[in-house]
Amino acid sequence: MTVPVFRFAPSPNGPLHLGHALSALLNADMARRTGGRMFLRIEDVDGTRARPEYERAILDDLDWLGIAYETPVRRQSEHADDYAAALDRLAALGLVYRSFLSRTEIAAAIRLEEARSGRPWPRDPDGAPLYPDIDRVRPPAEAEALAAAGRPHALRLDMAKAVRLAGPLAWEELGDGLDGPGETIEADPAAWGDVVLAGKFMPAAYHLAVVVDDALQGATDVVRGRDLYFATAVHRLLQTLLGLPAPRYHHHRLIVGPDGRKLSKSKGAAGLSALREAGATPADVRRMVGLAEPVAAGQYSPGPP
Ligand code: GLU
Repeated sequence: MTVPVFRFAPSPNGPLHLGHALSALLNADMARRTGGRMFLRIEDVDGTRARPEYERAILDDLDWLGIAYETPVRRQSEHADDYAAALDRLAALGLVYRSFLSRTEIAAAIRLEEARSGRPWPRDPDGAPLYPDIDRVRPPAEAEALAAAGRPHALRLDMAKAVRLAGPLAWEELGDGLDGPGETIEADPAAWGDVVLAGKFMPAAYHLAVVVDDALQGATDVVRGRDLYFATAVHRLLQTLLGLPAPRYHHHRLIVGPDGRKLSKSKGAAGLSALREAGATPADVRRMVGLAEPVAAGQYSPGPP
């Protein structure tokens, strides 16, 4: 039987809050119940947002919560070569193009198109407008010239072509459960439009880095918040195009703040270090996120490999 491999993969963009605690504790509990392994990955691939002091704070918070993980910890910023290799593979399939539009230019192009068609511009599941079809149809020589002239750009996936190449996609969703088979969820990556794969200060965007790393590290079970449920469609697409295995997915409920909205790092909401300083214990944190006392090893069966 294969041993399940779990992972907690925070981005060091701010202090961890109760939502992260739920993710980390669920991963650790599931690893314990199944006799599985668990690793920690620092998703600091976006150089404009990640900060080392937040990484240190993450390690402190996990120590305090009593969450053990395998070392060495993988830090995405140290593995640009792995992401470049995956990008090359997608480019060789003719699926990658350079995108030059700034936010302002994107907004202007969309306003123009909405005025012309009288219809609202399509948005992705997170509510962001899809990338307009301007750079994808730009002649390659022109794109080369712009890049050579130093125009900042990102690399994007030609979604329509990628979806045609990959064919129908689905993922296995187990929610809080451990025993398969889970529910088969049809994946709709096209809803995201031409997603960014890499940027000027970013050797890989989240979607690319996460699928490359989950495969390299042998993750069998991805336990993370429901805010990433629909993004899983993009992950299944990239896994298929890159010939990577599909883990099983467990998307868990989100912890909401007093205003009923999902906690966010930027608002400093319910930060774990603030709770600790205010005298909370790890057992209090478990209660606050609605988890019972930890279950001893071997009480649950991990289900089929
Ligand atoms: N790094 C992501 C975050 O902190 C989580 C990625 C994942 O679990 O797939 O939101």
